Amino acid sequence: MSIAIDIRHKIGALDLHAAFDIAEPGITALFGPSGSGKTTIINAIAGLLRPDHGRIVIHDRAVFDRERHINLAPRKRRVGYVFQDARLFPHLSVKANLFYGHKRSDSPLTRSACDDVIAMLGIGDLLSRRPNLLSGGEKQRVSLGRALLANPEILLLDEPLSALDQARKNEILPYLEHLRDTQHLPILYVSHAIDEVARLADQMVVMEDGKTLARGSVFDMLGRTDLGPLAGQFDTGTVLPAKVVSRDPKSIVSFLECSGQRFVVPFLGKRSGSLVRLHIRARDVMIARAAPPGISANNILPTRIMDIAGNSGDTLDITLGLGHGDGDGPPPRTLHARITAWSAARLKLAIGQDVFAVIKSVTVDGHMRQDGL
Ligand code: ADP
Ligand code: MG
Repeated sequence: MSIAIDIRHKIGALDLHAAFDIAEPGITALFGPSGSGKTTIINAIAGLLRPDHGRIVIHDRAVFDRERHINLAPRKRRVGYVFQDARLFPHLSVKANLFYGHKRSDSPLTRSACDDVIAMLGIGDLLSRRPNLLSGGEKQRVSLGRALLANPEILLLDEPLSALDQARKNEILPYLEHLRDTQHLPILYVSHAIDEVARLADQMVVMEDGKTLARGSVFDMLGRTDLGPLAGQFDTGTVLPAKVVSRDPKSIVSFLECSGQRFVVPFLGKRSGSLVRLHIRARDVMIARAAPPGISANNILPTRIMDIAGNSGDTLDITLGLGHGDGDGPPPRTLHARITAWSAARLKLAIGQDVFAVIKSVTVDGHMRQDGL
């Protein structure tokens, strides 16, 4: 299961040079500001655009190789594509839309696998409808179904949620999580919403001005403070794997464990032992020299300052060690806090100091992950 891409292409003012590979199933986020070349890359992989130079290999199969004059037609590439606007055929029923790619596929899903996909996406009751009678969220689920029924080897999602309001986004996100956790498909997910990336992605490729600027695991990338200048959209933060331990008697909050620390977050409705992923934005983390008494924040975590870095504007990014990673255990997890330079000076913060990270429960996003990552 892999995609390797190394292409150059000039289009309008954009001088694209994209080079990265995806070796695993799971979601790789392609992140970058508008105009950075994300859709151009997706179109090149899908075969809707022929790059000037380079090659694209999907599972050891060159689908494009400029030097070897290989340029497979889109339908030969076994790529599923979900556009930002669902692009369903308006004159066809939902069912006909769903089976459009299936009928034309050289290796379509079996009928029972199709039924499973339709059930998984919760669109079984919509089959006889026309697309114009669907909500935006339903359209995107049908569009996902259409891509999956053609039995693709990889799935390309180009900002599939960006045209939807928050309620519709929340309706689709669990389906994407389920897809990620049950279909062993590499998924390239274009987004410029850091919350979506933190929730869904395993790997992240950051684009700027047509270039692949950085790539790595979502855990490492979200803590990168050097990516901040990217149009102000890169909201530095921390993604942590955690385990549900218990809840309060009224099920108002969940108690989680991560790196030997207890986190209190709004109730997640998950059973004890469930694995979840937490996303904590750096700007939501306060620092205290002493544990503050009489405070509503539920998370007051003992940490140590590992690093202090300046960034654009008068703010500092403070890297905090969570747990002290003694001996042979795993390296300590880090937590990122963004505070003003003024408050850092007022508290006389310095590397090596033991401080408390103070985090309000309601600022922490918790999402289920079957693998806990
Ligand atoms: P993104 O998806 O990251 O927003 P795109 O890949 O759509 O970026 O486009 C990146 C840039 O490529 C655009 O800002 C524009 O300069 C150029 N571009 C893309 N498509 C065309 C086109 N059809 N004609 C001229 N320029 C284009
Ligand atoms: Mg785009």
